[in-house]
Amino acid sequence: MEPVVIVGSGLAGLTTAWALAPQPCVLITSGPLTGGAASMWAQGGVAAALGADDRPTLHAQDTFVAGARYGDRQVIDRITAAAPDVVRELARLGVPFDRTPSGDFDLALEGGHGRHRVAHAGDHSGATITRVMAGLVADLPSVTVREFSTAVSLATHAGRITGVDVRDERTGLVEHLPTDRVVLATGGVGGLFAHTTNPITATGRGVALAARIGARTDDLHLVQFHPTALDVGADPMPLLTEALRGAGAVLLADGRRFVDELQPRDIVAAAVWEQLTEGRRVVLDAREIADVTTRFPSVTTLAAEHGLDIATDLLPVRPALHFSMGGITTDAAARTSVPGLWAVGECSRTGLHGANRLASNSLLEAVVTGQAAAASADAFDGTWPVRAGADPDSVVASSDSQHDPAVLAAVRETLDTYCGVLRDAEGLQLAVDRLAPLTGTSDAAYVGWLIARSALAHPLSVGAHRRTDEPVLAVSA
Ligand SMILES: Cc1cc2nc3c(=O)[nH]c(=O)nc-3n(C[C@H](O)[C@H](O)[C@H](O)COP(=O)(O)OP(=O)(O)OC[C@H]3O[C@@H](n4cnc5c(N)ncnc54)[C@H](O)[C@@H]3O)c2cc1C
Repeated sequence: MEPVVIVGSGLAGLTTAWALAPQPCVLITSGPLTGGAASMWAQGGVAAALGADDRPTLHAQDTFVAGARYGDRQVIDRITAAAPDVVRELARLGVPFDRTPSGDFDLALEGGHGRHRVAHAGDHSGATITRVMAGLVADLPSVTVREFSTAVSLATHAGRITGVDVRDERTGLVEHLPTDRVVLATGGVGGLFAHTTNPITATGRGVALAARIGARTDDLHLVQFHPTALDVGADPMPLLTEALRGAGAVLLADGRRFVDELQPRDIVAAAVWEQLTEGRRVVLDAREIADVTTRFPSVTTLAAEHGLDIATDLLPVRPALHFSMGGITTDAAARTSVPGLWAVGECSRTGLHGANRLASNSLLEAVVTGQAAAASADAFDGTWPVRAGADPDSVVASSDSQHDPAVLAAVRETLDTYCGVLRDAEGLQLAVDRLAPLTGTSDAAYVGWLIARSALAHPLSVGAHRRTDEPVLAVSA
């Protein structure tokens, strides 16, 4: 049996490789290990019901409500129930989570959470966790790490995975790796939007790889806009973590508060967008937070790089593409609709996030899905549950897909303009028509087209998908 091939070295890919051991695997990743991974950029932390006043059922309910009641209850219950053990296991593996004087996890409050629930390592939780996992994986004899290697296409025979074509980024040569088991851990789609908090290399390449071979995707139009990206002309945009609002920072439009800052992100982002489109200047005011620079050192540094002091300055913000709730459709074992193909982390669509991700639920999802894929790939004997594949109209084979910066720029502008916080049929049709001719030759355009097409096909607003040409579905907490 050939080794499992894992594509991507963020937290989801690393967890998969770790949990697979001693089963051999090849971990391929476009840059250096952890390079280009959003996991390294996560500030807040991992949500888990660890507090004395908390329970997984409360975490589940907050997740469901934040997701506009569109999430899958069974998935939500399963993943939130696993969360406390995920945090304890990460701590056991060496992640130095912040602790209270009595030694308990120090739990932060974030928007949409009814309890202090986010285990964190300062405000650089993602980098801390991911580095610990990368160190462990790099030392495993069962893992062959191939850096600067990009998966460019998946090979199938009779509808089953038979291999993956990998391009060496240093030589340009493409090599075929035969395998009957591939785990996609390629991250999100933020880089397809002109305003994003994601690494600009996060262009949904796993979605393209899977969709081109007919794997089912769902809810690609459900993308989350973070309400407080620092608006200083940087690309990608520095993030002002939600935990700042949890600690007391307030949003001001022309000097006045206009929203409850701790509501779920879709609501706060829409409120910020409304103020901006009405011509007001929106800022985050963190000046009242005691010891703000000590408590938020990463944000302090990010702001300082743009000449701002979070302790004394008002911080200009705007919504920016942050997270993809949709993706490659998976079951509880992280299996896609294609035999031999698993998807984990942000590129997957598990049903956890519904129509709007609850803050700090995605690192959690990366770990839980990585563990599930590893167990399933380890036990793989060729059998696979029969699952509905993609809508055939959405499957476009690649005819020499190229990474063309000019095409990527056009995709980013198109999605930002027509598929942003507010959408309507006319704009979405324009986006679909503009991107359609490029879908065979550009993975970025293909995924952009899938996103716009999905948004066009969903005329009703739900969560982060806000159609101005249809009434918003009434959702109450
Ligand atoms: C600024 C920021 C702050 C965040 N804060 C939080 C937070 O506090 N809590 C939380 O839960 N979530 C947070 N998130 C979201 C969270 O970080 C991501 O959802 C999560 O890390 C995704 O992990 P992943 O392993 O799926 O993908 P990633 O970490 O993005 O890793 C993807 C990997 O795949 C590689 N790759 C992609 N395509 C290919 C290819 N074709 N071939 C080879 N390699 C490829 C990339 O190079 C990268 O190594 C934040 C996100 C951002 C951007």
